[in-house]
Amino acid sequence: MLQMNSSEHSEKSMLAVTLEVMHRAADRLGLDQSIRNVISKPQRILSVAVPVRMDDGRIEVFDGYRVQHSLARGPAKGGIRYHPEVTMDEVVALAMNMTWKCAVVDIPYGGAKGGVVVDPTQLSIGELERLTRRFTSEISIIIGPEKDIPAPDVNTNAQVMAWVMDTYSMQMGYSIPSVVTGKPIEIGGSLGRVDATGRGCVYTIVELAKKINLKLEGATVAVQGFGNVGSHAAVILQDIGCKVVAVSDVHGALYNEHGLDCRAIQAVAAKTGSILDYQGDAEEIPREQALEIPVDILVPAALGNQIHAGNAHRINAKIIAEGANGPTTNEADEILRSRGTIIIPDILANAGGVTVSYFEWVQGIQSLSWTEKQVAAELERRMVSSFNQVYERAQREDVDLRTAAYLIAIERVAQAIRLRGIFP
Ligand code: NAD
Repeated sequence: MLQMNSSEHSEKSMLAVTLEVMHRAADRLGLDQSIRNVISKPQRILSVAVPVRMDDGRIEVFDGYRVQHSLARGPAKGGIRYHPEVTMDEVVALAMNMTWKCAVVDIPYGGAKGGVVVDPTQLSIGELERLTRRFTSEISIIIGPEKDIPAPDVNTNAQVMAWVMDTYSMQMGYSIPSVVTGKPIEIGGSLGRVDATGRGCVYTIVELAKKINLKLEGATVAVQGFGNVGSHAAVILQDIGCKVVAVSDVHGALYNEHGLDCRAIQAVAAKTGSILDYQGDAEEIPREQALEIPVDILVPAALGNQIHAGNAHRINAKIIAEGANGPTTNEADEILRSRGTIIIPDILANAGGVTVSYFEWVQGIQSLSWTEKQVAAELERRMVSSFNQVYERAQREDVDLRTAAYLIAIERVAQAIRLRGIFP
């Protein structure tokens, strides 16, 4: 089955939504028009045609993009996604989000994103490798360990990153592991990267729970999307005592009012690709229902625009922690805020992945490796500190957490632009 179109329910494109949020925060900051002009546009867009020889001998050409939104605070950083609904606008929006995400957790990167318009489930492993290698070759003119460092995103993984790293290294004539993050451990990946986004998301939930006196022991949770982000968030939430009552993936949803065994479901999904193959104690429910079950904590961790004006009224969660990028449309955001739902915004809630990517890059450059304990401790320190900065800003200015996160991020990027000045 095809994954749901990320814009299927959207009132506006993800780019329009991203710009709207940025301008709202910029207005509040009183940001001057010159800086606003700079941050409103991506610095570079590379559009590539990717010819691939298919197994039957035909040549198919796929569209691909690499967008660098900002290089003001350091090299560009952002994932590569393979999805049939990828558009250039969406990649621009995601690159822009990466700029704010890196700034909000204060790591020295700008924002980038890449995408190829392809349904990878329709490709053989050989076709996938050839697509990845040719796409890497096409974008190699702008990526590099000091320029732009890709990472996994939707439908790409450590193996894809290994091919990216190898292709780039072959072109340069020597091994350059730091050109990508999210690599397999054996070739320079970091311990603790696989679950970093889910783990980071949980750290922000734990901090918010302390602020609002929500007891996590026995707190109910629903998770939409059971891939890298969703499954790890679910398992870690379960480990700290929460009751995960509903999880969904593209195939459907599982429910158990007494709590699901997320680790067992994760093991099944990793093997077969579908949570519905889980044979344990769970009831199958319609996919969309996972979002709407009354819970303390909802973690949307699938794709963008999943919570929209059409279903926001039916969502009954105290906290929404945005594991996915852009899961909530602006209209839905307003509806939920008016009903008292607290949303931990994507640029903060899912920043754990890019934070550990940064650790991987640092380890690569220094040719040393940290222990898993060191990675988790440093991730926790940064996520807790970033969450508290955002929370305090929100309290001080009487704004929601999303606006507060954007205020901090835009301020940091704007200051970098001011200090560096405009060339020439
Ligand atoms: P993934 O491909 O590993 O998992 C996506 C999951 O969502 C799969 O289980 C898929 O079946 C499910 N899904 C797709 N459509 C769905 C639908 N309509 N309803 C329910 N489930 C659906 O991807 P991922 O890496 O976990 O990324 C998920 C989201 O998190 C994306 O928005 C991505 O940009 C964002 N994100 C990922 C990372 C990371 O480190 N992987 C970091 C930051 C943000």
